[in-house]
Amino acid sequence: MIIPSTELAELLQGYRRFREAGWKSERERWASLCEGQQPRIMVIACSDSRVDPAQIFDVHPGEIFVVRNVAALVPPFETTPGLHGVSAALEFAVQVLKVREIVVMGHGMCGGCKAALTQELSGTDPGQGGFIANWIEMLDPVREPIASELGTESRAAERAMEEAAVKVSLANLRTFPCVQEKEKRGSLTLRGAFFAISDGILHLLDEKTGKFSPA
Ligand SMILES: [Zn+2]
Repeated sequence: MIIPSTELAELLQGYRRFREAGWKSERERWASLCEGQQPRIMVIACSDSRVDPAQIFDVHPGEIFVVRNVAALVPPFETTPGLHGVSAALEFAVQVLKVREIVVMGHGMCGGCKAALTQELSGTDPGQGGFIANWIEMLDPVREPIASELGTESRAAERAMEEAAVKVSLANLRTFPCVQEKEKRGSLTLRGAFFAISDGILHLLDEKTGKFSPA
């Protein structure tokens, strides 16, 4: 018999509650989901444990297709050799599932955005911070104006970085030909969002003004 760690034991307790409550009450939904999924929205969010899209949007299984990574970033369209995980998920969502909308959700107190601002990990080796440093270098172009105006230590600078990261991801999404084409045709909408952890309020980006306001 496998003896779980304390952490896993807690998860298994949750799993038993899920089997008793969630699974039973939604058995019909699960039965139809085993035939396939048809989510209409893709959400790109941070891996941060405090910003689970399914929890924030209170959705059922099968309703949102989610990618989570450090700082909710989408890399630009690249065909260089490598393992393009976000691009693969994006391709699947847009071309196979044909989602109608992609929401990029940044959040408050984001460690990835903070590290991009302070550059505290630059120069570290892969496995020692280097993978993160390399990933968040994507934010270097927006870092410069923020750091020169607000410094790298203030909360205002961090917030500016968190909001700018959402805009970087939206811009990078638009470098993918399939996204460009579908957005132009009106069959795909891109949306920027920001979840402020401190008060639990979701903000939506108005791309015309560049401002985020409560949803
Ligand atoms: Zn984060």
